[in-house]
Amino acid sequence: MLRYHTVPVTGFQQNASLLWCDQTQEGVIVDPGGDLPRLKAEVARLGIRLVALWLTHAHIDHAGGTGTLARELGLPIIGPHPGDQFWIDGLPQQSQMFGFPPAEAFTPTRWLADGDVLQLGQSTVTVRHTPGHTPGHVVFHAAEIQRCFVGDVLFAGSIGRTDFPGGDHDTLIDSITQRLWPMGNETVFIPGHGPESSFGVERRQNPYVRGT
Ligand SMILES: [Zn+2]
Ligand SMILES: [Zn+2]
Repeated sequence: MLRYHTVPVTGFQQNASLLWCDQTQEGVIVDPGGDLPRLKAEVARLGIRLVALWLTHAHIDHAGGTGTLARELGLPIIGPHPGDQFWIDGLPQQSQMFGFPPAEAFTPTRWLADGDVLQLGQSTVTVRHTPGHTPGHVVFHAAEIQRCFVGDVLFAGSIGRTDFPGGDHDTLIDSITQRLWPMGNETVFIPGHGPESSFGVERRQNPYVRGT
């Protein structure tokens, strides 16, 4: 069975998530944006053996710690979708603009595409490509525990910003209604910022997507 533990990191309180198989203790960090000593301490406390870093998209608060952590621990970088290459190239400028420590450059070991299936210990996680906030944004659907790690696509009561380069509101709404909603109303999502919610609750109450 998969288990997870979310750790808000950086001044943006970005929800980095440790996700692991409790049979093998193999795990990943979804969006290691920063505060690497805290993340490493949680990994050690939970007895996780890291096997990869997974990225939903390449904004600094989600991806800023990736290059350093991958180099220090010898981990592959999985994701995001190639549409975010320009955001990865721009990480040094993003660090400066938002007052982050300098982000180490990196190249994903493996780019992701819609429908990819990732093995994690004895479990699998499905990738959906969900552009709109960024062109290469992906989400990670852990169907066996009815959880989805959605980055900055959807929040409790809100949706991702679309005013960055490459952002597009209609594309984001399509991603939410065509790629998230089919996972089911009971599915709980872990957003990039703020508290968890379920797709069913957002379909009823979220003013940006209510009734879709
Ligand atoms: Zn973002
Ligand atoms: Zn974010």
